Amino acid sequence: MRDRRLYRTGCIGLEHVGWVRAADAAAIRRYPRLQGALSADVAVIGGGLLGTSLALHLRERGVGVVLLEAGDIGFGASGRNAGHVATHVEGMRLPAGIRRLPEGGARYLDLVRSGPAVVDELVRRFGIACNYTPSGHIVLTNRTGDIPHLEEGQRYWESQGIAMELLDAAATEAATGSSRFVAGLRQRSGGRINSYAYTHGLAAAAAGLGARVFTHSAVTGVQRRDNRWSVSTDGGSVLAGQVVACTNAYVTEAIPRMTRAFYPGIPGVVSFKPLPASVADALVPSGATLSQLGVPAAVQKDVTGRFYFASIPAPGRADRAEPFARALRNWLRKTFPRLDGEALEVEAYWTGRTANTLDGLPRIHDIAPGFLAPIACNGLGITTCTQFGRVLAEAIHRDRYDELPTRLTAPARYPLRFLYDPAVSVMVQGMALRGRLRGALD
Ligand SMILES: Cc1cc2nc3c(=O)[nH]c(=O)nc-3n(C[C@H](O)[C@H](O)[C@H](O)COP(=O)(O)OP(=O)(O)OC[C@H]3O[C@@H](n4cnc5c(N)ncnc54)[C@H](O)[C@@H]3O)c2cc1C
Repeated sequence: MRDRRLYRTGCIGLEHVGWVRAADAAAIRRYPRLQGALSADVAVIGGGLLGTSLALHLRERGVGVVLLEAGDIGFGASGRNAGHVATHVEGMRLPAGIRRLPEGGARYLDLVRSGPAVVDELVRRFGIACNYTPSGHIVLTNRTGDIPHLEEGQRYWESQGIAMELLDAAATEAATGSSRFVAGLRQRSGGRINSYAYTHGLAAAAAGLGARVFTHSAVTGVQRRDNRWSVSTDGGSVLAGQVVACTNAYVTEAIPRMTRAFYPGIPGVVSFKPLPASVADALVPSGATLSQLGVPAAVQKDVTGRFYFASIPAPGRADRAEPFARALRNWLRKTFPRLDGEALEVEAYWTGRTANTLDGLPRIHDIAPGFLAPIACNGLGITTCTQFGRVLAEAIHRDRYDELPTRLTAPARYPLRFLYDPAVSVMVQGMALRGRLRGALD
């Protein structure tokens, strides 16, 4: 019963998360709980991609940082996502609202474009063991009628400055190891990553540069005191000139203005036990992450030979691994007939929580002078959170908030929040049905 609630809220323990099993345990560092009173230039709340990237980039600029995480590093969406370092998935376009951002969205677009390269550079520079493979992403189709759609996608993304390659049937087969597809649209930048290990790597790099990182230290309140902010946990407190709440959809009542500032979504991911190298190596030899037109899911095979499949659970079924496992098994067997004799056993199933805005754009909320809350880098969170941490560190360091890719805003209260996840879930089931009817799984 308790697990059921945890699955439905995207909070099931990290021990259920496949990325934790696939990570190199030696690269995962543990941190103490906060005890006693500290002071810092900046208190960062939340040890996900955004909080750890911010802490790292602040330390690179010589700013004093304390990072407080309620659970372990990566407990939120950052440790549980699908591991696609991408600028888009199946048929996606940049949100239309981008044009209303500073400089007509040029700065934001620049972050999107350079996101994969920035992740790549950090992984290399800090030697982060997160199985990052810059192998790109392919949107696949098994229907010749979809080829004009892929061509249109290529024109669109290239007009945004992101190089794409249209693959014919032979090139798609060479990249995927499957003869099932008639075409694919490949983005060369980006790739696959163990985001749990990457988030830990960012935290370790920040700590290595002098950030003081504390886990199991949930912030219980943030109060103004003598022109500074007092950030309290059960074990201690931090007095800081600036607070940045990077709590995303896992926000608690400690930051009351943020608890209703987004629509919460609950996607899930299933992973299979590693396939023997003799089998796995022939599947997706390009290493690209995959999506398929008509199949509302994201698939990747990581370097350990595990397959991962991310989608949105059916309404009220977030705690059930079996529908996800069945969908992945069906997709794999149709795509790679050579898997027929393989057991394809589930290793892990988990869910996570995303913070969504109506226009699909992230926000940097200005809660009070010296108290910011960036949220909603979803879908593209691995690159966007890394990038927002970097540009926010620069803005804080130089006191130049006018140079950010989004304007500082006041948090809005989103109505009827309880309807969002079921509505998305119904929509995704509809997409899956339409895809089946149109023969996406033939
Ligand atoms: C299932 C799933 C699949 C996804 N797939 C992809 C993908 O393939 N590619 C991609 O780019 N993006 C993907 N995303 C989105 C991406 O994971 C997120 O955008 C990103 O991880 C958000 O990072 P964050 O640091 O903002 O928030 P989180 O990682 O959610 O971190 C917030 C942290 O704040 C902590 N916290 C909350 N309250 C407190 C408090 N009071 N005190 C201290 N700490 C607190 C939480 O414990 C949590 O660790 C996916 C998300 C999910 C859930």
